[in-house]
This record gives sequence, structure tokens and C-alpha cells, in this order.
Amino acid sequence: MTGYLPDHGDGGYRVAHYDLDLDYKPHTGRLGGRATLSAVASAPLTRVVLDFDALAVSRVLVDGKPARHTHGGGKLRIRPTRPVDGPFTMEVRYSGVARPIRTRHWGELGWDQLADGALVASQPVGASSWFPCNDLVRDKATYRISVTAPSSYVVLANGVQVEGRTGGSSTTWVYEQAEPMATYLASVQIGQYVRVPLGGGQDVAAPARLVRDVRHDFARQPRMMTVFEELFGPYPFRAYQVVVTDDELEVPVEAQGMSVFGANHVDGRRGHERLVAHELAHQWFGNSVGLADWRDIWLNEGFACYAEWLWSERSGGPTAAVLAERARARLTRAPQDLRIGDPGVANLFDDRVYKRGALTLHGLRTRQGDLDFFATLREWTDTHRHGTATTADFMALAQRHTTYPLSLFFRSWLEEPHLPAL
Ligand SMILES: [Zn+2]
Repeated sequence: MTGYLPDHGDGGYRVAHYDLDLDYKPHTGRLGGRATLSAVASAPLTRVVLDFDALAVSRVLVDGKPARHTHGGGKLRIRPTRPVDGPFTMEVRYSGVARPIRTRHWGELGWDQLADGALVASQPVGASSWFPCNDLVRDKATYRISVTAPSSYVVLANGVQVEGRTGGSSTTWVYEQAEPMATYLASVQIGQYVRVPLGGGQDVAAPARLVRDVRHDFARQPRMMTVFEELFGPYPFRAYQVVVTDDELEVPVEAQGMSVFGANHVDGRRGHERLVAHELAHQWFGNSVGLADWRDIWLNEGFACYAEWLWSERSGGPTAAVLAERARARLTRAPQDLRIGDPGVANLFDDRVYKRGALTLHGLRTRQGDLDFFATLREWTDTHRHGTATTADFMALAQRHTTYPLSLFFRSWLEEPHLPAL
């Protein structure tokens, strides 16, 4: 069975580690980079293909030796002087004005210039706008990301900040992401931000003008973290950073150990708190337990959407049962022509995948009962922690936690377009 994006990535090797050294000039949008990839080939390769889009490549080394290469059509094709086999390294130097990638189904993705700074929002195929990569969703790697920017800017990247060097007009920020990460979740955020502490070791980077509203809107996030750890198991990463950009964003963006909101998602009235819950839940569902293929996107979005309802239930709002009834009523008025277990590339982020995915989990909860349902979720996040998993894995795991036969239930919710009853 071929995956959803067969022209992305290269199954002939995997990347264990990305070391990215970047230099960014916010006023011109110029990005200079040196990417060093530690990779492992499963069989001898005479050619190695990386996904890499717009920026100009000046030099490629394989195991320290210059290698011939061609660059075009979103691919960097490298011909090492002798075939690689087992572990090898690739170093790519590049520069140019960084721009997002235009996609047919999902708009512009990847590195994007803000009014004053930059953000990265890559899901699903934007990573190659800012670094050369093996853009397979299942090929997770560790990262070190170093970014040099003018000293008036704050730079955030995935993982834990390990270094900050100020050289007068510019500052170098270094982050280490020790837990394996999918390429689409790699992220850099650059802006004129101040840090708003929330307690519990959490804070939000936001423009000064939004500090008061941010403090109010994110005040319950530490409590949310406690509730989710109780329901889903331990938070899977060492850091959780939140960024609110000065610009408006269509939707918030999840990255590993990080979530990014637009100024329009902050109103001083917690009007978007469900999105705070949604993005936090992705740390367990999508980021730690990753997808083996985009076909199973409901494992990310259905779970994050159901976490919104769980947070509502646990924080004095409507119960998940009430929210499920409402969501189902709205879905009855939408076209019933989507199979959320295989929605098609064009419909990956269709709202019906989110809502019907959450309804599937609510239906499962009513059949299993709370005890077995939450035990299923915790075993899911534990068994596949920092790995990848499939819908078949989830169905088998859920079945192990109940004597209720689930195969017809899952088939009707995930594989048939017609909307089942709750
Ligand atoms: Zn989501």
C-alpha cells in the first residue's frame, strides 16, 4: 500500500540527526544555512535524494567530501563520489530569501515572513522550505537548531535552549530537541517578543501589546497540563513553549514541544481556550505518537479535538457527551461522503475528520467505559511514545481493553461515509 505523499521523502535511508545552523535577517528575509544530516542507508546508494525547495545550494559534502548534485523541482539529488552504505553524513550550505511553499491543497506552508520576524508552519509538507530533509512523516530524528538573528529579536525553536551568545548586534540561540521529531514539526519562531510566565515552568512569548490578554487567556494552561497528564499519561517532552505572533493566523499551529497562536486567538476572555487545549493535546497525539502515514490523520486531529471536549468537561464547561451530540447534529447537515480513516490527500484537514474523529473516540468511551477508555489512551501514549503508529494499532489496542466487539464499530465510524448513531 503506497502512502499519501509518494513523491516525498526517500525510503532508502533514514536520518538520525539534523544539525541546523541558520542566520536570519528579518528586514530582508534572507536565510543562510548549513544543514548537517547524520543518516543511515539500509543498502548501498549511489544517489541520495533530499527534499529541498527554493533556497540556493552552494556546497554539498558527503562524509566530508564534495559531492556532485543537482537541485530543482523540490529535490536536491546528490551523487557521492562512492556509494554510501550504513551511517553517513551530508552537509548542505544554502542561502536565499526564505519563502513558503505553495501547495495545491493546503495553501502556503513552511518558513513565512511575519510583519516583523518569521514563523514556520509546515504541516504537512513545508519543512523543505527551510532545510534539506528526508520529508517522510515516519522518519523521525533528533535536532540541534542554532539561529543567529539581530539582538532585539527573541528566537524560539524546538526543544530546550542550551545556549545564547550575544555578539553585540546579533545573538545566537541554540536549541536541542533530544526526542525524535518528524520534519513537519520542526519549527523556528522569530519576533519582538516578551516572555509571560504562567507558573508551572510554562510561559508564553508574545508581543508586549498583548501581554495582559495573554496572561488571562493562558492562565489555565498549567491546570490543563495537569489534567491531560492524568488522562493521557506524562507530558512527553522536556519543554512546552507557546508563541503568540503579532500577526493574525488562520489557525494555530502545532510544533514539537511548541504551539503557535495568532494575535486573533487572544481576546482577554478565553474565547479560544479550546484551541489552547487542542494544541497542547497534540504533544501526546501527533507529536510524541506520530503518524506512519498521513492517511491516519484522524489519530492526530480526532484525538486533539476530543481533548478539547475533555478539557471542557473537566473545567466546568459542557460535558463531552453534550459536545458530542452537538457536533454530531452539525455533521448530519454536512455531506456524508468522507471516510475519515482514508480521507484522501485533499481532505486531510477537513473539519469532518476532526469532529467525526472525536465522535469516534466518544463512541469508544461509551462502549468501553471510562476506566478502560482512559487506560487505552494511556497505553497508547506509552507504547508508541516518540514513535509512530497506525489506525490498525489503535483498534487492536482498544480491543484488548474491552470484551465489547469493536470491529463493526470502528468500521462504521472510520471506513463508511454514512454517519453512524452515537
Ligand atoms: Zn490539530
